[in-house]
Amino acid sequence: MADSTLIETPDFKRRGVLFVLSSPSGAGKSTIARKLLAAEPDMSMSVSATTRPMRPGEVDGKDYHFVDLPEFRRMTADQEFLEWAHVFGQRYGTPRAPVEAMLKSGQDVLFDIDWQGAQQLHQIAGGDVVRVFILPPSMEELERRLRGRATDSDEVIDGRMARAAGEIAHWDGYDYVLCNVDADDCFSRVQTILHAERMKRSRQTGLIGFIRKLGRYHQE
Ligand code: 5GP
Repeated sequence: MADSTLIETPDFKRRGVLFVLSSPSGAGKSTIARKLLAAEPDMSMSVSATTRPMRPGEVDGKDYHFVDLPEFRRMTADQEFLEWAHVFGQRYGTPRAPVEAMLKSGQDVLFDIDWQGAQQLHQIAGGDVVRVFILPPSMEELERRLRGRATDSDEVIDGRMARAAGEIAHWDGYDYVLCNVDADDCFSRVQTILHAERMKRSRQTGLIGFIRKLGRYHQE
């Protein structure tokens, strides 16, 4: 994993960013992810595998790889996942090979995964992972947004509200926490985080060669 995260830019080599966006369902994370991918040509999305049924409008291979339980179990046994977790009684996992390929081809990778996934990725890739948590403006507003969606039953929404409270309880496992009051403003703050993280000294591995050359000019 570590070596494949090296990205060559025209000036320097830098380590790729594994950018995790988590939030309770309905906090506006998918809109932000979509805007980020549209605005950042050097960023690609990791498409997870899941055992949950496809929702109307979703596309297999784009929103998720929809697989059945035996196939998910096979992928787990064959160590095809970077991380996987139970969420809402279903299984979700991040396929390893596409992430490694994206990093190798010079892309930063965006993950829409939950706190369990964020934690596992951080254990694997440490400082290469940037974990961002998006909060809704309030729990009342979150419920209003979830009801407005109308794709799920009351029972599912109640379950998601309970789950949201559980997700939010893990906010302290993240590097950045933002409140999504205004979608454009929230997006722009997320983009700022990405840009700043790309410039972190610890990612600029090519800088070492550059700094060495300074020795030729440097006089005590
Ligand atoms: P949904 O079913 O609404 O698309 O997603 C439910 C939750 O599963 C979301 O919080 C989403 O971030 C999380 N999730 C999606 N893919 C993965 C994954 O590959 N790994 C983990 N750990 N969580 C995921």
